[in-house]
Amino acid sequence: MLVVMKNDASEAQVDAVIKEIEKMGYRGVPMPGAIRTAICVLGNKGPIEAGRLLAIEGVKEAIPVTRPYKLVSRETHPDSTIVTIGDVKIGGGDPVVMAGPCAVESEEQALTIADIVKKHGARIFRGGAFKPRTSPYSFQGLGEKGLKILEKVRKETGLLIITEATDTENLVSVEKATDIIQIGARNMQNYALLRLAGQTRKPILLKRGLAATIEEWLMAAEYIMSEGNSRVILCERGIRTFADNTRNTLDLSAIPSIKEASHLPIIADPSHAAGRRDYVISLSRGAIAVGADGLIIEVHHDPAHAMSDGMQSLYPHQFEQLMQELNKLKGYL
Ligand code: PEP
Ligand code: MN
Repeated sequence: MLVVMKNDASEAQVDAVIKEIEKMGYRGVPMPGAIRTAICVLGNKGPIEAGRLLAIEGVKEAIPVTRPYKLVSRETHPDSTIVTIGDVKIGGGDPVVMAGPCAVESEEQALTIADIVKKHGARIFRGGAFKPRTSPYSFQGLGEKGLKILEKVRKETGLLIITEATDTENLVSVEKATDIIQIGARNMQNYALLRLAGQTRKPILLKRGLAATIEEWLMAAEYIMSEGNSRVILCERGIRTFADNTRNTLDLSAIPSIKEASHLPIIADPSHAAGRRDYVISLSRGAIAVGADGLIIEVHHDPAHAMSDGMQSLYPHQFEQLMQELNKLKGYL
């Protein structure tokens, strides 16, 4: 349920509503809006007796929330959320591009690629220091050393950094080093990690699980928000289907579905969806055309020797072409 306060409701009246909600055995989370404050009731399993809340001074109305997720729902927060990091806005209408290698391999590799993606207009540098690999024998990432390299990339280029936390142990050092914490597809339902991510003060990029429904994905985002971190960005990165022409199937329809159900920004990852570089530009155009707030793209200066995901990494000239095409598209958005 959402308890909507009158425009001129005082802070004391908001507090009185929260206290009453707590007396009923639930949690009340205030959601200040431009005109009035609303209070979201969390923890109830069935309908709530609204009369007790409507009787409190300053309460305008009580609206039942029909979705199982509350804080991420557009029902409780009609305006789209913009996640601001420095002077970069994700969800503000201008698509934001995050780009870089799948994995940080060396300082030289990271700086070379960062210079390339910066030159062509990327605002955020991606690169995994901790890598969740399907095989235990594959390169697992440089770990802490990779985080140090990412900090150097930020210092030398001014680009913001996104990198993945793969478990609750490395989340703490990832949080210190990065501007955005990525939670990967394989970890979308790692609830301990989601809760801990919710306790950080850094924005979280939450990738869709390989076989997750929209509802499961939004419930995962709800875990993060219910711990107090409202800066969540969703990422459609392709799902497992019967199709074998691509590594995964980029679910473009997820983008309007998320926009309808939630106020959170959503970006697309055509690299992991396609698994092959020659489809990345077309899928990027598609994602932006259906309303994605940005893209995360794998780029490598020498993909043939990349330590992970070389097949799907764009050559520098392809990344340049992608950015030019996106600029042309902007005129139509
Ligand atoms: C990645 O971004 O390199 C990655 C491992 O992504 P995903 O979790 O989507 O597979
Ligand atoms: Mn990758």
